[in-house]
Amino acid sequence: MKSKVYFIDFRVTPRENIFGKIGRLLEEAGLSKIISDRDLTALKIHFGERGNTAFIRPVYVAQIAEAVKKAGGSPFLTDTNTLYAGTRSDAPSHLKTAIKNGFTYSTVEVPVVIADGLRGASETVINSKGKHFKKFYIGSEIYNADAMISIAHFKGHELAGFGGALKNIGMGCASRKGKLAQHSTVSPKVKRKLCVACEDCLSHCAVSAISMKDEKASINNDTCVGCGECILICPSEAIQIQWNQSIPVFLEGMIEYTKAALDNKKDKTLYINFINSISPACDCADYSDSPIVHDIGIVASTDPVAIDTASADLVNSKKGIESSALTTNLGEGEDKFKGLYPAVDWPLQLKYAEELGIGTRSYDLITIDPLRWKQG
Ligand code: SF4
Ligand code: SF4
Repeated sequence: MKSKVYFIDFRVTPRENIFGKIGRLLEEAGLSKIISDRDLTALKIHFGERGNTAFIRPVYVAQIAEAVKKAGGSPFLTDTNTLYAGTRSDAPSHLKTAIKNGFTYSTVEVPVVIADGLRGASETVINSKGKHFKKFYIGSEIYNADAMISIAHFKGHELAGFGGALKNIGMGCASRKGKLAQHSTVSPKVKRKLCVACEDCLSHCAVSAISMKDEKASINNDTCVGCGECILICPSEAIQIQWNQSIPVFLEGMIEYTKAALDNKKDKTLYINFINSISPACDCADYSDSPIVHDIGIVASTDPVAIDTASADLVNSKKGIESSALTTNLGEGEDKFKGLYPAVDWPLQLKYAEELGIGTRSYDLITIDPLRWKQG
């Protein structure tokens, strides 16, 4: 059976602005059926690393929070701490970054709660038989919530091909221990022949795992947390992982985590993907390169597999922007994520999610039109 994915673009008329349109999108997608009276509702978002500008705008999030309140819920904004020592690795710095990026009570009118606590150790352990994991470590305050709205920025991602709803849940709800387990297979190495000793990677490794040895960069695998940042930074592609072996395991592990994080939220989760400012890399980076395709719109669904499939299809259906990081596969219908990351088999995350019963890749895209200037 096909799942429904509701879609709005950014066209509006004087009869209704984008906030009104988002309100209709959420209603059509079934928000009021998911939220019951006084449900503590986790609005799972990524606040963006300091220096990044591609993350979702707080004014849009305020509209979603308002709709949850109208449905009777009690929303709070949440995310888990990062593995690496950037600007979101513990609750105080994470809260400061959220505020700096505009997610304050005065803008969004909901509190921010860091789901895995002060240092990322407040976790709930789920036991479940996966191919890669048997124990799953989920941020307790997300697990303890009655309902969840996944608010994901859809964009390219260096290890997953793209980041959307599945990654927002699978990686984004995992506590520090859970993230470490998922990244443990990603262990980059430096190809000495290709290294030009620019030292750029040294300052971009947040855990200081890279040093210079005999005038070439070298990675200490005991310290490396597998975040993949250095792969993006290296100008000569000297830093590589075993893509064929590491990435499929990474993607499957992330999907198993998605299933675990949704364990107690059956029929209690709605997914919203913002397909705008479609940057080539994750919002975890402390910079954001220009978009690879023009802004597309916002989608909402109760099925995380269908919404990510539809989002990827929408991006791939568009013409790539020639002045962006995308240098191949620029044509309409060409695979933009393969164009960015040729070694990442991104459809695998959707296929495995379908196999695990998280959702389906078959969907009907239902477009919600703008209200016309003149009716009839
Ligand atoms: S993947 Fe690279 S940047 Fe990330 S921790 Fe390891 S060495 Fe550092
Ligand atoms: S960024 Fe690449 S080329 Fe520069 S030092 Fe690191 S590995 Fe070598």
